[in-house]
Amino acid sequence: MAIRTVDQLELKGKRVFIRVDFNVPQDEKNNITDETRILLSLPTIRFVSEAGGKVILASHLGRPKSKKDPKFSLAPVAERLSQLLKERVALATDCIGEDVQKQIGEMREGDLLLLENLRFHPEEEKNEEAFSKALGSLCDVYINDAFGAAHRAHASTEGMTRFVPVVAAGFLMMKEIGSLEKALVNPQKPYVAILGGAKVSDKIGVIQNLLDKVTTLLVGGGMAYTFLKAEGFQIGKSLVEEEQIGFSLQLLEKAKGKIKFLLPSDHIAAERMDVQAKRKVVKNDNIPSEWVCLDIGPETVKTFSGEIKSARTIFWNGPMGVFEMEPFSQGTFAIAKAIASTSAFSIVGGGDSVAAVNKAGVADKISHLSTGGGASLEFIEGKKLPGIEALRKNRGGLG
Ligand code: AMP
Repeated sequence: MAIRTVDQLELKGKRVFIRVDFNVPQDEKNNITDETRILLSLPTIRFVSEAGGKVILASHLGRPKSKKDPKFSLAPVAERLSQLLKERVALATDCIGEDVQKQIGEMREGDLLLLENLRFHPEEEKNEEAFSKALGSLCDVYINDAFGAAHRAHASTEGMTRFVPVVAAGFLMMKEIGSLEKALVNPQKPYVAILGGAKVSDKIGVIQNLLDKVTTLLVGGGMAYTFLKAEGFQIGKSLVEEEQIGFSLQLLEKAKGKIKFLLPSDHIAAERMDVQAKRKVVKNDNIPSEWVCLDIGPETVKTFSGEIKSARTIFWNGPMGVFEMEPFSQGTFAIAKAIASTSAFSIVGGGDSVAAVNKAGVADKISHLSTGGGASLEFIEGKKLPGIEALRKNRGGLG
């Protein structure tokens, strides 16, 4: 069933619940350090408010352990959102309950209310029915614009849709789905996927699915060392998942004759993971036994960049090295720049890769920066995302 979008609905005078992703990074003083997610949610919020809907915004933030931990309050987001919209955004004391019902009852058309952190209630992540029902009772229309949380079946992304007559996707959600579908259904070839980051185990599903889709798979970052060890190389103290070695070997075998599966051929190795530590460029067959490989080397950058250059579709998730530390960030930035210099349809997903693209100053050269790392991986893996599937269950009329 096709997904209905926010612009197809009658919104005037309706209580419109918008599930947004305001899970923004903050420093120790609760200053927002990256407001990308807030900025990307503005089109849907503005649209609903201008259409005369009563805008009820809801999000999770971090992983609060106890109820109402002020450290995880959405107050800084309400403040920043007010500034960006040049409209007052009230902050509710909670996300369900009598107080909230009362506040919503007093809203006028176009008003904005941000509910307090959904995760102050453990029932949110448990997708508990009574909690879902309580959320559903707050609104007449449900919009999901939180792609980054769509791979989770939580009360606000899945459960509550059963208790709201009209459900639809927001503009950001539709943009994410549309872009990722391009890389999943009949992507233009050559299709180059680049995977990095710490763990093979997080990316097993996506690698398996990509083996049938891509022309070339480039693997870098910490996860490359499990593959290199599987191929028989001595990887020193580099990151490894011993229990994944057998499986990595199977993947390499499966890829043979089917796609080009490339691993790094050289590395930036260091005596230890420290910016001060001694470091040097090493090839696969001379990694010192006591050293750790923390970035791809210059030869690998050249090979990977060459593959990227001829691509017409690109998917990238995960850094090529410990890019948080300057001496080990060059590989990741070089890949970001290589992708940016192509005219391919390019998707970059995952917080680290998106941060690298931003830091390299090439964000505007990427076709689609996905706000959801985990969600975009599961989408490319071919999985059905509960937060998206819930939007297909449209009931009732057009509001
Ligand atoms: P992930 O969350 O799986 O995408 O992993 C991201 C993390 O992987 C980043 O924090 C990187 O510092 C880390 N990483 C990337 N390459 C390496 C490496 N060669 N050794 C250790 N950690 C790495």
